[in-house]
Amino acid sequence: MPDNADRQAVLDRAAEGGRITPEEALDLYRSAPLHALGAAADAARRKRYAGTEHIATYIIERNINYTNSCVTACKFCAFYASPKSDDVWTRDLDDILRRCAETVELGGTQIMFQGGHHPDYGVEYYEEHFAAIKERFPELVIHSLGASEVQHMAKISGVTPEEAIRRIHAAGLDSFAGAGAELLPARARTAIAPLKESGERWLEIMETAHDLGVESTSTMLMGTGETNAERIEHLRMIRDVQDRTGGFRAFIPYTYQPENNHLKGRTQATLFEYLRMISIARLFLHNVAHIQGSWLTTGKEAGQLSLHYGADDLGSVMLEENVVSSAGAKHRSNRMELLDLIRAADRVPAQRSTTYEHLVVHEDPAEDPSDDRVVSHFSSTAIEGGSAHPELNLIEAK
Ligand code: SF4
Repeated sequence: MPDNADRQAVLDRAAEGGRITPEEALDLYRSAPLHALGAAADAARRKRYAGTEHIATYIIERNINYTNSCVTACKFCAFYASPKSDDVWTRDLDDILRRCAETVELGGTQIMFQGGHHPDYGVEYYEEHFAAIKERFPELVIHSLGASEVQHMAKISGVTPEEAIRRIHAAGLDSFAGAGAELLPARARTAIAPLKESGERWLEIMETAHDLGVESTSTMLMGTGETNAERIEHLRMIRDVQDRTGGFRAFIPYTYQPENNHLKGRTQATLFEYLRMISIARLFLHNVAHIQGSWLTTGKEAGQLSLHYGADDLGSVMLEENVVSSAGAKHRSNRMELLDLIRAADRVPAQRSTTYEHLVVHEDPAEDPSDDRVVSHFSSTAIEGGSAHPELNLIEAK
């Protein structure tokens, strides 16, 4: 049984960028003192970003939810409606383009196209929409979808996932957001998403995407009753693929939200579990560049703390979000507040691109952007044409 001296030796190795085993990671995750774990992760972050270690990044993006119709019925999900239900809605292309126009107007650089597994939406649907978005707004990066959507659209269209990826990439998809990873180990995944593809299949499709030159981020949903060992196994599965492809740009753990879903909030991850995960991800995933703190699901203070536990990025000012909001995530921010939060956490904020280049480094608070329309929102999906900001209702797609 390792003691704290043994653990410190493992932490020191990992802080230097050395590789640790899944067994070592599990022991650290369970038993290392929290501050020692965070200090090692912060040291690893500083070493990786030597020269820019004082910076923490954010992005301005918009989630665009194109439909809530979904045949997959995940138990943790508060967003979907069964395809035959009266609660189903879809957004037409004009509405989607108007949301893109607002994103550009507000200085957003990325859209995340996000929706349910609609029974009729095959590859052609995504080709048409991505091509239309790119034609009107070539400056917007389409960082969207994941292996689950690829599996579903390929099945609808009767093609292989590889062909589906080639076609939607050619139509305009820039990178995959890594949606649908949830929990990759079989027991934990089946317990919350019995109709989703297996974790192995999810990874196979992401690996295919990476091989085709379409990079992605990776995610983990924490707090639905999975064990610590399953959390570390999830990281191992991602690290093994990353060893082969190098295609995961970032790892983003986020916490299960308890409202309006079949799991009924019987379990939830605590703040300390979340911070421990941020740290162990930085240490174990030595081959993944970016670790993102999720203030949207854990809260702003947790986001600030995550910057001291290994995270280098705080995600986005999300101009619109409807998925985790439906399950109870109520945290909202705006760009000015996010800059203040990052500075209060002793970092210099920088707006980044999808590929993590620094677009603007906000060195001087006196020069901060002051557009108070750059606010994270959920637009009620019940309101036809709901938009990021009331003043922007009249912006038309050009
Ligand atoms: S998480 Fe995605 S796939 Fe699962 S039910 Fe919700 S919308 Fe459908």
